[in-house]
Amino acid sequence: MSEPLRIQPNLEFVQELQAIGGQDLKKCYQCATCSVVCPLSPMDRSFPRKEMVWAQWGLKDRLVNDIDMWLCHKCGQCSEQCPRGAKPGELMSALRNMAYRNLMGPKFIGEWMSSIKHLPKLIAIPAIIYLLVWFVTGSLQGTPFPLEHGKIEFGLIFPGDYTIDPVFVLVFFFAVYTFIRGIGKLYQGFDTQPKTFVLGYHPPENIWVSLYQVLKEEVVTHKKWKDCGEEEPEDTKFKGHLVLFYSFIALAVVTGIVAFTHWGGKVLPFLHMPYPMALWNPVKILANIGAIGLFVGLIYLTKRRVAPSEKDESSYYDWYLIVLIWVVAVTGMLSQIFRIAEVAGLAYSVYYLHLVSVFMLIAYTPWSKLGHLVYRIAALTYARRHGRLSTEIETDKNKVYVI
Ligand code: SF4
Ligand code: SF4
Repeated sequence: MSEPLRIQPNLEFVQELQAIGGQDLKKCYQCATCSVVCPLSPMDRSFPRKEMVWAQWGLKDRLVNDIDMWLCHKCGQCSEQCPRGAKPGELMSALRNMAYRNLMGPKFIGEWMSSIKHLPKLIAIPAIIYLLVWFVTGSLQGTPFPLEHGKIEFGLIFPGDYTIDPVFVLVFFFAVYTFIRGIGKLYQGFDTQPKTFVLGYHPPENIWVSLYQVLKEEVVTHKKWKDCGEEEPEDTKFKGHLVLFYSFIALAVVTGIVAFTHWGGKVLPFLHMPYPMALWNPVKILANIGAIGLFVGLIYLTKRRVAPSEKDESSYYDWYLIVLIWVVAVTGMLSQIFRIAEVAGLAYSVYYLHLVSVFMLIAYTPWSKLGHLVYRIAALTYARRHGRLSTEIETDKNKVYVI
């Protein structure tokens, strides 16, 4: 006679989930409407109904290793159609928030990133670093707001070669290292879960081909975002995300070129690029396009977040990221305006805030919602590799497999 299966619910985990966005999960009565209406859910072992029951039962191991949380793009159609107001889309989002918080150490950063009450500590780290730099360089210059030939020169207070580049290179590689370990841990968790296969689907030969397909067919086009809703306000979210994504890429390319020509120019002088760049310089044009795109994307996404929505409620993780990007964009723009207007006190102060916000954007990325950029791509790649696909997928032979 078989032994009865005993389920050990993790009540602490359920409470944690409720605290970070899944507060209505107990209202679910398992009608499965959410899984039927979800435009991205596979037919087999569909989501988010099963996640709702796992959450009610407190099955932590199943939920924290669930690849489907990364296949959800939070369009909110399930929450809108749920007859019980259980908000399954919010639960999927809460699961991702929990992953940002707990996937990788140091644990204290994950905890600090999860609540506004810890925000002052996160700000304090870069604020103190750059305040110390300012104090030392200001003392050496004899004034906290020095001028060179009557002009404001930020490098007099924050020398790029000694204070900005080394710090940002360190935090950048710290974030990259954390992401690499995080992906490894994510994949270990996925490996422990049962797999489903799509009949007729032949997984790509290796993981790099899977990654290439994800980048080409989903990331570049944002296809899944589009599939997740073409009506307002989902369309606003799609456009905002797309514009913001390409703006980040444009600005990352500009940063890479500037760093390469600056440091490369020290070894090979012909690489050196004169600063400030002329307005017609292609790198400058790309930087300006990226900056304009950043504001356009932010306006779209802020409009989407501010509008009351039953479909998609905003969590602290949503607001943290959007406000931080606003601060980076506005302080970057204002510091240049004050520099050109030669208002030294304001120019240096706003530039200091800009450095603090950029530090926060890069260093804390693996624990912020921006981490989804890496973790979602990694999960989608795994899904392709193992045939965990949404309702349809086009292969390179232009065949469509329907699950
Ligand atoms: S979350 Fe709502 S729609 Fe989904 S199974 Fe539960 S009650 Fe039904
Ligand atoms: S939020 Fe959208 S993508 Fe996510 S489970 Fe609900 S319907 Fe599916």
